[in-house]
Amino acid sequence: MVTKHTEELLKWDADHILHAIGTVGYNQGFAPFEEAQGVRVKDTEGKEYIDIASQLVNVNLGHNRRDIAEVAKAQIDKMMYTSTLRGYANVPSIEYSQKLAQVVPKGLDHFLFTMTGSDADDCAFKIANLYYKVKGERRYKILSLFNSYHGTLRGTGGATGMAKGADAECPPCGEHIHLPNYFCYRCPLHKEYPGCGIECAEFLDYVIENEGEDNIACFIVEAEQGPGGFISPPPEYLPRVREICSKHGILFIADEVMTGFGRTGKMFAVEHWNVVPDIMTLSKAITSGYLPLGVVAVSDEVFNTLKGQYLAPGSSESGNPICCAVASKVLDIYKEEHIVEHAAEIGKYARARLEKEFLPLPHIGSLSGLGLMLGLDIVVDKKTKAIPAPEVTNLIQRRGLEHGLYLRVMGNRLCFGPPLVISREDVDEALDRLYPVLAELQLN
Ligand code: PMP
Repeated sequence: MVTKHTEELLKWDADHILHAIGTVGYNQGFAPFEEAQGVRVKDTEGKEYIDIASQLVNVNLGHNRRDIAEVAKAQIDKMMYTSTLRGYANVPSIEYSQKLAQVVPKGLDHFLFTMTGSDADDCAFKIANLYYKVKGERRYKILSLFNSYHGTLRGTGGATGMAKGADAECPPCGEHIHLPNYFCYRCPLHKEYPGCGIECAEFLDYVIENEGEDNIACFIVEAEQGPGGFISPPPEYLPRVREICSKHGILFIADEVMTGFGRTGKMFAVEHWNVVPDIMTLSKAITSGYLPLGVVAVSDEVFNTLKGQYLAPGSSESGNPICCAVASKVLDIYKEEHIVEHAAEIGKYARARLEKEFLPLPHIGSLSGLGLMLGLDIVVDKKTKAIPAPEVTNLIQRRGLEHGLYLRVMGNRLCFGPPLVISREDVDEALDRLYPVLAELQLN
C-alpha cells in the first residue's frame, strides 16, 4: 500500500504523461522518485534504492553532484543562451571542444553539437551522405547490426536492430541493412568462438561486396551493445570490421553514446582495441546525464572533405552554453578523479563476484561486458538457453525494487551498470541485494 499522495501522483502520471519508449496511458506503478544522491535514489514513500543502472547508463558520476550544479549556476548567471548556428560562436562550446579534443581518439577533434544520442547518430548519417556527395558519389545505404540501438527517430529508427516491428507503422527513412551481431553466447551464425574465424565480422565484407560498396555510406556499430543487453564483442571483431570498412572506403561510425566516458573501463570503448573510427557519436554521460547534450566527432579527413559545404543538420540547442559548461566540468572530474581507472578496477571486482557467485545460479546462462557494463543472460534452462517469458523482465525489476535496487532488465538481460563512482562497499551491498532476486527465480 502506498500513501494517497503517491497514488494521486501515479494516477495523474498514467493519465497525462506519455512515457517515451513505453506504453501510452501506463506507468510501472512504482512510487515516483523525488530525491537522489550519489548511487542512491529515493521515492515519494521515502524508500531508498541503490541505482545499479545509473538510470539510463548515463549518470556516470552519481546523482546530484553539487560542484556540477555550481558550474551550471555560474553559467546561468553569466549567459544562459546564445546560438551557435550559422557560424556564430559562444565561449562555453569552444572551451568544451578544446577539452574534448584532448581525450578523443587521434584526429577525431572536429565536433558537431547536438542534444541527444539519437540526433547525434542521425546527424552522423547525414554527414556520411554529404561526405560522399562532395566526392561526387551518391551513397545512401546504412549498415548496422541486429540487436543494436541507435535511436528511435525517423533516420535512426531504421538503423536500430532491436525490437523490430515495434514501430513498424512509422517507416524510417533511408535504406538500412542489418547484419548478425557479435553475441558469442547466442551466436546468430551458430558458430563457436574462437574457432569461428569471426564470421560475424567477415559477414560485413560479404554484405558490402553483394550490396555494392559504391552505394553504402557507413557502418555504424556500438563497441559494446548497450540497450541490447551489455554484450561485448570478441577481441578480434572491432579491428576486423574497421579494416573491412577501410578496404571498401566506407565510413566507420562508432556509436559511443552509452559506452563513452569511462563506462567500459576506458575513456572510449574503441580504445580497448586501438580502433580509430571515422566518426564517433557521444551523449549520455557527457554531462553525467544531468543535461541534454550530444556530439558528433569527425576525423580530419571527413572535416577537410566537408570544408566549405553547407551542413544542414542541427538544432536551436546545438552548443547550448549551460550544457557545454556542465560537460566541461564533468570532463574535468573524469580526469581529476581518475574515474575511468576506478571504473576499470571496480568493474573487475564486480565481475569476479558475478562470475563466482551468480554464474553458478540455475537461471544465469552467461556473463559478458567490459568495465562497469556487465550483462547476465537469464535462461529458463542452462542447457537449452531458453529465454524466459517476457513477464519475467517486469518481475525482476519489481523484485529488485523490493530488495532496494533500481535495476535495468532488457528482455532477458540483467544489466549491471552502476555509477562509475561506486565504492567497493556499495558494490557489495548492491550484489548482496541482487543475489536473492536472481537466486529465488523459478522459471521452469
Ligand atoms: N545509441 C546508443 C548506443 C544508445 O544507448 C542510445 C540511448 N540508449 C542512443 C543511441 C540514443 O540516445 P538518446 O536516448 O540520447 O537519444
